[in-house]
Amino acid sequence: MWDETLDRARRLAGDWLASLPERPVGRPVDEPLALDDRLPEHGTPAPQVLSELAAALEPGLVATPGPRYFGFVTGGSLPVALGADWMVSATDQNVAARVMSPAMATLEEITGRWVCDLLGLPADSAVGFVTGAQMANVVGLAAARHALLAGAGWDVGTDGLAGAPVPTVVIGEQAHSTILQALRLLGLGSGRAVRVPADDQGRMRADVLRDLLAAIDGPVLVCAQAGQVDTGASDPLDDIAAVVAGREQRWLHVDGAFGLWAASAPARRHLVTGAAHADSWTVDGHKWLNVPYDCGMAIVRDPAAVTAAMSLSAAYLPMGVADPSSRVPESSRRARALPVHAALRSLGREGVADLVERCCTLARQAADELGAHPEIEILNDVVLNQVLFRPRGDDARELAAAVARDGTCWVGTTVWRGRPAVRLSVSNWSTTPEDVRRSTTAIRRLL
Ligand SMILES: *Cc1c(COP(=O)(O)O)cnc(C)c1O
Repeated sequence: MWDETLDRARRLAGDWLASLPERPVGRPVDEPLALDDRLPEHGTPAPQVLSELAAALEPGLVATPGPRYFGFVTGGSLPVALGADWMVSATDQNVAARVMSPAMATLEEITGRWVCDLLGLPADSAVGFVTGAQMANVVGLAAARHALLAGAGWDVGTDGLAGAPVPTVVIGEQAHSTILQALRLLGLGSGRAVRVPADDQGRMRADVLRDLLAAIDGPVLVCAQAGQVDTGASDPLDDIAAVVAGREQRWLHVDGAFGLWAASAPARRHLVTGAAHADSWTVDGHKWLNVPYDCGMAIVRDPAAVTAAMSLSAAYLPMGVADPSSRVPESSRRARALPVHAALRSLGREGVADLVERCCTLARQAADELGAHPEIEILNDVVLNQVLFRPRGDDARELAAAVARDGTCWVGTTVWRGRPAVRLSVSNWSTTPEDVRRSTTAIRRLL
């Protein structure tokens, strides 16, 4: 019953994966997809549905999991993680309550401890597996909101925010947009956050933070960042932690969607020194760890703080604070920890360090090869996996568009210090020095 359908899926997946190294990267679609938009009246055999869908979607797919996609911060999928992801769907476990899947609940706990170990975070932290860093930021800030208000004698879960002694939120000038979104979702208001200026690499200035905090009374929620999306730079977490530590009612959150992985590589670890002093952390699996999409981790030092903010209960639900759903906003949920676990088991501590280090080395190579062109200016200190550059003529967007049309690789654009710039992120396990060389050669030719 299953074989014909799954064999077909296996073959179609194989065709797609085999096309990744050489298909035009980020091929722009200028024709409408041949997708039938009418709801069918009659059924179609399952294998045929899969084949038809694969054919109809193919022209509009982007080789984001391929070795020369350098847009945003985009990892691919390690083979073992993709295989494990198939197991997630095949076993179809609901990791809301332990009783629904003791195996996956236990696996989440073990995997969470592994991630904390790799990132140098407190071993007893609660780790919730969520959709991505956006939701991990929501969880971290929700735990912070709950705890800070509880400290002021206010139960935000029951009484809401109207009339509450709302803590002051402090963020860096270069905080990620998902932090602002989390503040909006949590009723804390993105516009009310105090913004701390950043230095030329986008790092929050700890000296300014110190002065700002000195002028603020009452509870504060400080959001720092490990890995700015354009430069890869991390806020001076050690200094920030020291500044924040002097306060009674405070919470320090670190958004380290990709940057926190630096902690796993001995030669990059110094970039995030001090991260472990925070109260909550965000990290993505689907970026640098190269597991398939739908995987972020919300890590909170005090498990009671996150369960206070996230637990739900109903007479028919056998859920308590020990159940996986007590650490995340969702109730029903797929076994997101399985691909992470499989990736970590396959790579080992050394393999994760090697993956991170390799991407950083390739980013350095890209910066050197691009920077050798007289018309290209490298704008950042390439300390991690991000390269930020600009053609001297200021036509950054035109260059990126030409790169997209060419199809050798794909790079994104941003606005850095008021002017357009091109960003190149090396986050894929399968990228080789030859991929980087081909890509920088194409970019230089197009310039
Ligand atoms: C990518 C990123 C996010 C958002 O991650 P998603 O997984 O897309 O939700 C948040 N913060 C930082 C610093 C990021 O780089």
